[in-house]
Amino acid sequence: MNATFNIEKIKVGQEESIRPILIAGPCSAETEEQTITTAYRLAAMGVKIFRAGIWKPRTRPGSFEGVGTKGLAWLKKVKVETGMSIGTEVATAVHVYEALKHGLDVLWIGARTTANPFAVQEIADSLRGVDIPILIKNPINPDVHLWIGAIERINQSGIKKVAAIHRGFSTYIKSKYRNEPQWQIPIELKRRIPEIQIISDPSHITGNRELIGEVAQQALDLNFDGLMIESHINPDDAWSDASQQLTPAGLQGIMNQLIIRTKESSKMNLDLEKLRGEIDELDLELLNTLEKRMMIAENIGRYKSENKITIFQPDRYNKIMEKRVLQANGKGLTPAFTERIFKSIHEESILHQKAIMNAVSEPPIKKLTT
Ligand code: PEP
Ligand code: MN
Repeated sequence: MNATFNIEKIKVGQEESIRPILIAGPCSAETEEQTITTAYRLAAMGVKIFRAGIWKPRTRPGSFEGVGTKGLAWLKKVKVETGMSIGTEVATAVHVYEALKHGLDVLWIGARTTANPFAVQEIADSLRGVDIPILIKNPINPDVHLWIGAIERINQSGIKKVAAIHRGFSTYIKSKYRNEPQWQIPIELKRRIPEIQIISDPSHITGNRELIGEVAQQALDLNFDGLMIESHINPDDAWSDASQQLTPAGLQGIMNQLIIRTKESSKMNLDLEKLRGEIDELDLELLNTLEKRMMIAENIGRYKSENKITIFQPDRYNKIMEKRVLQANGKGLTPAFTERIFKSIHEESILHQKAIMNAVSEPPIKKLTT
């Protein structure tokens, strides 16, 4: 089923076009002082949207689960005193109710909640008639459909300002990241919903403040629209996600280094277009060559059929593989790649040969046109 979406871009202040949109603030609001001091520093840097977790869905009980509703009053104070918009994570209809009552401007659905369609539907229902941006984090598991489903549920409840947050995926692979980015998934999301804005959350992807800059840059290079980065006045003492939070000054350092490439503009893009054109031509050539190769395979099939020879000749297959790997090596192609390609070509050839050998009446031998 192809869903239709009715999505509007989210605005930062009065403007729509600021790129990247920057959302910054602590993982959690811990105390009024920590919240307000962090907010003042970020506002002074020009941050327009302040984030802070109020309800924290933690993997195990006993960890800090957020200060709860009382923290919303601190966020409201941030809004009144600094003029920033304020945002937090909601996981239930009660959270939505409380957050709206306290004037929250932006809400997001966390990764653990996106993975639960009943919870997302409950939030969607509680948002009917509301007109604020809702950001939807990817689910913890690498499932683009679950992510799209959550976006659909929120959008269908009448919320037009929806955007996605890419925060990486939980895997068993041991890697330098806390959550694997699996970039192909947000790219696929964008392919399926081209109008959606995507905000990168390098804090939760990396789990490590040293790596935030490089992941943020990669996200911008992929044309993501914004960044959500955790910043705390005293990161090492944070009550949650200490190792991935940056001081406001650290965040400023990263923002200063980021290179914002534009989609439009420039000669660079024209050069890119030219190279892409060359790739298109070569791909077509590859396909034409494969077509010819399959025609020859079919002719071989006819020959084998007439002479009662089996289709699969293991010796020949092994020899081809060895030879191709050697030939490809000289062209800078890895053995693993060459083997994959020729295994797949061979499988397709066998299918063509089988079709010919199983045909009841034998068509005449095809002639190659070139
Ligand atoms: C958060 O943003 O603090 C958070 C809990 O994120 P996630 O849902 O991505 O784990
Ligand atoms: Mn966090």
